[in-house]
Amino acid sequence: MTSLPELHELETLLALGKDHFQAEVVCTVQSGTARYPVYKIVMGNPDPALPAVGFFGGVHGLERIGSQVLLAFLRGLLSRLQWDKTLHHLLDQMQLVIMPLINPGGMANHTRCNPRGVDLMRNSPVEAGVAVPFLLAGQRFSRHLPWYRGEIGQAMEMENLALCAVVQQHLLSRRFSIALDCHSGFGLRDRIWFPHAHTHHPIPHLAEIWALAELFQTSYPHHRYLIEPQSLRYLTHGDVWDCLYLQTPPDHIFLPLTLEMGSWLWVKKNPRQLFSRLGMFNPVATHRWQRVLRSHLVWLNFLMSAAAGHGAWVADGPRRCRLQELAVLRWYRP
Ligand SMILES: [Zn+2]
Repeated sequence: MTSLPELHELETLLALGKDHFQAEVVCTVQSGTARYPVYKIVMGNPDPALPAVGFFGGVHGLERIGSQVLLAFLRGLLSRLQWDKTLHHLLDQMQLVIMPLINPGGMANHTRCNPRGVDLMRNSPVEAGVAVPFLLAGQRFSRHLPWYRGEIGQAMEMENLALCAVVQQHLLSRRFSIALDCHSGFGLRDRIWFPHAHTHHPIPHLAEIWALAELFQTSYPHHRYLIEPQSLRYLTHGDVWDCLYLQTPPDHIFLPLTLEMGSWLWVKKNPRQLFSRLGMFNPVATHRWQRVLRSHLVWLNFLMSAAAGHGAWVADGPRRCRLQELAVLRWYRP
């Protein structure tokens, strides 16, 4: 048994689900004498004409809850695959890719960064063009300070190269795809962020983001997510999702989203968590942890259904222009 419980749970699920999906080690990370595999799991219909969804977690090693949400989801999927015909029907119309633990070395070491001291979400070559928060936006001074981007001109870290290869192969290659990267740590509310992170300029697919947000609001009223561009909160250098989004082929739609679970709420309810590094980013009380694990399942299932049924809600022509206008008014009005 590995000393990393999330990796142990993942490998247990891989053994249980071997008849239902393909799993592959996309890279192996070294940390001291330990070596950790980074897995991708692929299920559903491989037809490249069909849409795809990717779920990602564990990019920041301290934010264990992101991996745990995806592992709980995966365990539920495995059970449902035994009996749920609607799930089989859904997976027949799309492909699903899951990378629940992208930075196992960081998680084992209890660090946000990877074992080489690099913050994977500041590590892409994308540069913010305007004034950004000092250090937080990413820095190249030292790997001993937080938010270290790595050396200028170097290739991205191997975890990121593996992540990018998976996204390019399974998501960017499709005419329609959605990614969700699960994090925790900012604010009192659960947020869904969309690019850009490096500039205040709206993305070309703002109309599709607006339509997706409206679809969720009308299909699952009273949800608690705040959906907004990341640039509304703070800009950063080196965001990997910005980097991947900028690679979207002209006739494809790729919507990379980040689930930013509002961990300040957990700390507010249990201030003792302030004194633990993991407590700043993860729910500690059992009932709160269970609530977090179950509360995002609706959103994950919704994204799969929304991708499979995108033909019914993605707009074009004048309606698309109208949605774009509404989104600009909502999120980008000065
Ligand atoms: Zn994070």
